[in-house]
Amino acid sequence: MPLTREQQQAVANHLKSRAQPPKCQVCGAANMVVQEHLTHPNAADPESTADPLVNVVCNYCGHVLHFSTSVLGLAVD
Ligand SMILES: [Zn+2]
Repeated sequence: MPLTREQQQAVANHLKSRAQPPKCQVCGAANMVVQEHLTHPNAADPESTADPLVNVVCNYCGHVLHFSTSVLGLAVD
């Protein structure tokens, strides 16, 4: 399931509360955008218990950061 608008905003608020402002670790731009779609590590492995990851992309250079849905407290399938 993709993230809802509310979940995307909750992730953005979480990042703002812990990084002021959230910056790209590659280019230093502060233009990070929470993506709707999640990344599923080891998606081909039915035994995998890896948490889905939130994608946050730098709109300047395209670098993508991943954040744990369980640490963020997001209820996702
Ligand atoms: Zn960047």
